[in-house]
Amino acid sequence: MVVSLFEKKHTGIKACWGSALVESNTILLNLKLIKTPKHCIEYVILNEMIHFKYNNHSDSFYNMLDALMPDRKKGRQFWTKRL
Ligand SMILES: [Zn+2]
Repeated sequence: MVVSLFEKKHTGIKACWGSALVESNTILLNLKLIKTPKHCIEYVILNEMIHFKYNNHSDSFYNMLDALMPDRKKGRQFWTKRL
């Protein structure tokens, strides 16, 4: 798996904080994540990693996210406010 950082919004990236490019086995992370709390970074990375199993935001996706990060809403609230 390749993890790359980006500063500006890439063409084709749906979210500002990160993106999973399943076809190329790559996760793109926004460099601005460095300035966010640790739980936000964990949330984004976990979110993108789960997309390698579920390439959507289905119930199955969120069930896995909840199982791996029970307090995920803490991180989500932070970065959705900043979008
Ligand atoms: Zn996602």
